[in-house]
Amino acid sequence: MENTVLLYDSAEDILTASKLIRKGNVVGIPTETVYGLGADALNPEAVKKIFKAKGRPADNPLIVHIYKIEEADKLGHDIPNIFYRLAAIFWPGPLTMIVPKNDIIPAETSGGLDTVGIRMPSHRVMRELIRLTGPIAAPSANRSGYPSPTSAAHVMNDMNGKISAVIDGGESRFGVESTVISFDDENTVRILRPGSVTSEMLMEHADNVIIDDAILNDIAEGREAPSPGMKYKHYSPQADVKIIDGDFENFCIYVNNNQGINTFCLLFDDDDTNKINCRYVTYGSDSSQQAHNFFAKLRELDSLNADRIFVRPPQKDGVGLAVYNRLLRAAGFEVIRV
Ligand code: AMP
Ligand code: MG
Repeated sequence: MENTVLLYDSAEDILTASKLIRKGNVVGIPTETVYGLGADALNPEAVKKIFKAKGRPADNPLIVHIYKIEEADKLGHDIPNIFYRLAAIFWPGPLTMIVPKNDIIPAETSGGLDTVGIRMPSHRVMRELIRLTGPIAAPSANRSGYPSPTSAAHVMNDMNGKISAVIDGGESRFGVESTVISFDDENTVRILRPGSVTSEMLMEHADNVIIDDAILNDIAEGREAPSPGMKYKHYSPQADVKIIDGDFENFCIYVNNNQGINTFCLLFDDDDTNKINCRYVTYGSDSSQQAHNFFAKLRELDSLNADRIFVRPPQKDGVGLAVYNRLLRAAGFEVIRV
């Protein structure tokens, strides 16, 4: 057991965190997407500690976070022009781009792949930390398979005793992990994980944008996952998550006829809760709010000992697609249409 120190976002505490990371330790860090577990991306022993703390399968690669664009040229090679064009528009921000990796990236960081996912985050604390430290590898700071953390308290809940420190930088702004893309060719972007940089936004800057099949469907049998994370169960609270897709009237009829002892609903803020005969929490009235709240609400439902959650699914475009992708994975891709 390690003593996990809670740090704040002062210059002094960020320097403390940087020293811990440079010495090969793991620190929980705030970003604009979700909280990450950061370690020196170029130090294989440090990176192994991330996998151990999370219980993450060794073949699921880590995203490497950089401070300035020149660092991308050190980490990757044969980087297409479109990478730089998109970086100029969306960085710093919640977009991860996959390119062939250089030897400087240890196999531990890339999960044994010959590519690396690179992102330049915008969160002030994360940026300062990278500036002081160098490239930081950071997956989401949850136990593998569980909902991602969007506050320092969530990270403490999952990681207390397993990592050196957590920096409290407030609630994560977006609440869903970065958009992950690869390039089929110079003008074709493939979205491997939807996020707050949406397909609609990418379409304004690339000729072709493909939403990979595995975003809305379980990985097809016999197909190799283009992103290892697609293979694994993800984002799941303790409770059984059920997506009930249809208008609110039919949602209510279904729920009122199918509840068990500790059933809860996850609703929109503006749903007429008089019509529902079940305990509930709400997660916002538009897709951005729902992205911001989704993981925190799943964690809240765990703390209420929910054993089944009937969820009103978000819109399936814009940022809603990112939330829906997480929800589908939490529900094992099963959708009940009403
Ligand atoms: P997390 O670190 O928890 O945000 O998850 C990162 C996601 O990005 C996982 O689903 C990974 O499989 C994916 N990813 C990271 N690096 C690569 C890469 N080089 N190739 C394909 N997918 C990647
Ligand atoms: Mg994750």
